[in-house]
Amino acid sequence: MSFMSEKGEMAVPHRLLIVGAGLTGSVSAALLRRKFPKELLDITVWEKSRGAGGRMNTNRFPGDSKGLSSVDLGAQYISATSEYYLKSHDRFYQELLSAKVLVPFKGIIEGEKEAAKHNFTNFVAPSGINSIVKHFLHSSESKVSYETHCNVIDCCEKPGHDGRSRKVWQVTDLKDNTEEFESVIITIPVPQLLGLKGSIQDFIESKRLSLENVEYSSRFAVGLYFDVGSKINVAWTCKYVIGDPNLAFLSVDTRKRFNKDPTDTGSSLLIHSSKSFSLKHWDTDQEAVRNLLISHARELIPDLPHPIDSRCLRWRYSQVVRRFEGAPGCLILSSSPLLIACGDAFTHTNFDGCISSAQSVAKTFSL
Ligand SMILES: Cc1cc2nc3c(=O)[nH]c(=O)nc-3n(C[C@H](O)[C@H](O)[C@H](O)COP(=O)(O)OP(=O)(O)OC[C@H]3O[C@@H](n4cnc5c(N)ncnc54)[C@H](O)[C@@H]3O)c2cc1C
Repeated sequence: MSFMSEKGEMAVPHRLLIVGAGLTGSVSAALLRRKFPKELLDITVWEKSRGAGGRMNTNRFPGDSKGLSSVDLGAQYISATSEYYLKSHDRFYQELLSAKVLVPFKGIIEGEKEAAKHNFTNFVAPSGINSIVKHFLHSSESKVSYETHCNVIDCCEKPGHDGRSRKVWQVTDLKDNTEEFESVIITIPVPQLLGLKGSIQDFIESKRLSLENVEYSSRFAVGLYFDVGSKINVAWTCKYVIGDPNLAFLSVDTRKRFNKDPTDTGSSLLIHSSKSFSLKHWDTDQEAVRNLLISHARELIPDLPHPIDSRCLRWRYSQVVRRFEGAPGCLILSSSPLLIACGDAFTHTNFDGCISSAQSVAKTFSL
């Protein structure tokens, strides 16, 4: 591949910004890197949080020097939800399995739907669910800026190297730092996309109603850490709490790591609230929410040990309940300069959905 321009000069790489280091952003970056070398495509990722993962979030117990005790607060395990995805996304599954980022799920999932039991193949991430996102991000060789919150996206004219003007995206973060990019891919939840400032709003306008129609569920997640030697006396690794007004899902998270009870770390438990609990307590103080959810979990596990630490998180945008009409994979908001919106809202709300969305970005993007 030649990196020379027509005049025999070294080509200047195309500058691409990906907003969001969740699964869609990291797989998009990885697929584009596999298509274009660094000399042709310079990828920058802006992520508002301190680390990668997004809704594939893993919280690590700070007191655990071996780094073994952790809780996945968002996505729990990966289900290839049909033969179709197991086949069509085989290369992603094989890549993650051979890197040992994923291993087959061996534990009991109580309350799993009958159809899921027979048709889904489940995997867990022994190093935490965010290791999936980190794997793809690392392979993309992108420049990743954490704690960089994209705030304004403006389209502006710039003089090009050949004297002709060209349009670029001027992107500003919450700390008022501005950078220019030739293309921008936005992977953040749709309501957050709608909240971005600048002339991006003009590009959104014709799709606004469809974008506003996208809907997410909300939920609380509580992660509990227990001392070394404490046991959680249940047979399951994960449990869907069917018909409960307060709880939706529980997971003995350390069992997902080891596929059995660990001997040299404490255990950890994940609690996800139900939809009705989340609606009722959305504005309740988080400390009170945490205590309520722990007491509801104790109704199901009466001898639950006393936690030595905990983490409570409020997912305002949890899973997509009404996706973008037609599920196009990604949405081109501007073709020149390129501006794309993507993520699980444009496909479906799980691992396979994010992979499909990133594939559609990689197909759309050209230099
Ligand atoms: C509670 C819960 C349980 C789930 N369970 C499962 C499961 O078991 N299996 C499964 O496959 N899926 C599950 N999912 C769904 C799965 O997590 C999502 O489909 C997937 O993580 C979405 O990835 P994404 O990259 O599209 O979006 P996100 O993960 O939301 O990534 C977007 C990223 O953009 C960042 N961001 C947002 N705004 C800005 C900004 N202005 N500037 C810079 N960065 C910004 C965010 O911090 C985030 O990191 C679950 C989700 C939740 C919340």
